[in-house]
Amino acid sequence: MKFITYNQKNFNKIEYLKSIPVEIKKEIEIVSKVLPFKTNNYVIDYLIDWDHYENDPVFILNFPNRDMLSEKQYEMVEKAWNDKIPDEEFQRLVNKIRLQLNPHPAQQMTNIPKLDGIPLEGCQHKYQDIVLFFPSEGQTCHAHCTFCFRWPQFVKDLDLQFSMREIEMVLEYIRRNENIHEILFTGGDPMVMSPKTISKYIHKIFEADIKHLDIIRFGTKSLSYWPFTFIPAFSDEAEEMLHLFKQITDQGMHLSFMAHFNHPNEMDNNAVQEAIYNIRETGAEIRTQAPVLKNINNSGKIWSDMWTKQVNLGMIPYYMFVERETGPYRYFELPIAEVYDIYTNAIRYSGSLAKTVTAPVMSASQGKVHIMGIVDNDISSERYFMMQYIRNRNIEETYKPFLMHYDAKATWFDQLTKVKEPIVM
Ligand SMILES: *Cc1c(COP(=O)(O)O)cnc(C)c1O
Ligand code: SF4
Repeated sequence: MKFITYNQKNFNKIEYLKSIPVEIKKEIEIVSKVLPFKTNNYVIDYLIDWDHYENDPVFILNFPNRDMLSEKQYEMVEKAWNDKIPDEEFQRLVNKIRLQLNPHPAQQMTNIPKLDGIPLEGCQHKYQDIVLFFPSEGQTCHAHCTFCFRWPQFVKDLDLQFSMREIEMVLEYIRRNENIHEILFTGGDPMVMSPKTISKYIHKIFEADIKHLDIIRFGTKSLSYWPFTFIPAFSDEAEEMLHLFKQITDQGMHLSFMAHFNHPNEMDNNAVQEAIYNIRETGAEIRTQAPVLKNINNSGKIWSDMWTKQVNLGMIPYYMFVERETGPYRYFELPIAEVYDIYTNAIRYSGSLAKTVTAPVMSASQGKVHIMGIVDNDISSERYFMMQYIRNRNIEETYKPFLMHYDAKATWFDQLTKVKEPIVM
């Protein structure tokens, strides 16, 4: 394969996209006052089919559209924009709408650990064996997803950012907690950081030499938004990045990429395939995860194609999520029952090696809930969801199946009620 150098160009203006009619551009511009919009030349040149952009899954994933706000919200912003109201007033309106979009679902802010009474702001510790670390340089992404539950981190003025420059305190916290075996770098996307910056963090981990810390994970969408990070022919820094991964695995640590793919189209070109190959050459594993989204990937066929391609490329399907209640979720949400149906239709037609996936999963405030099945009671004709926590703040609560009353319309865990009475089947 021969590549030419490809420098990243970021866009948050859409004027130059000639295939989009003027009215639609204006709508994108208005919605992007509220929802963060960012794309880049790889997404535009490699992933989107511009002949059919209106229905293109990556276009919808990356470009906000007016249906992502309520009619009322849209009209308020449009009017304020047309009236050219003062900046400050405009920002106040935008922030008010953002706060209507449930910026912090599932109490994300409550899992911040403390070291000697000092809160570790760039860290979350919810499940006993793993901490999340939010390096301050990694709190953006190569492009932004319209559905993203971390969207408040990308818009300024909200003061909701959690991130921290100092990893030392986090490592000291890990040292004192022998149950912690994993650190997960997340964001944003930690792979927007240069290899020099990441290396600085990783070498702190090496120096700390904590016996019980065995696993490093990176949560990233860079394989689908900027694979050149991992291709030396394209990027001057790729060699250094891959070398760093190799150093981690050479230390005897397990390195896992939690790669975010929303659609099989993101895996079709040579660049992403070469990036996957190069990462795997370093001894790292790539596990894949994504939510089911109406208007983007809500069919069993799409998911079985996605898992089949992932397995063929040497990646390991890991999680399929139910979309969280945040941002423009009304546009993307699907009933839990429908997500379950998509899952069964997908897994039946994927090869056996796709069965590593746990699905569908909801990240609720108590933990990660796995929807195991839909159960019919032949005696009472009642119907139930069978679920279990695969992750819970309280580890004793995991892997215990329980029943919730079936509701064909429910889109989230808190809309369901638990079955308490004894059941005869
Ligand atoms: C999902 C998640 C993790 C990682 O969980 P795994 O099941 O090990 O992938 C860790 N912390 C939080 C807060 C999470 O939501
Ligand atoms: S890449 Fe991940 S963190 Fe970034 S916008 Fe998309 S979903 Fe959000």
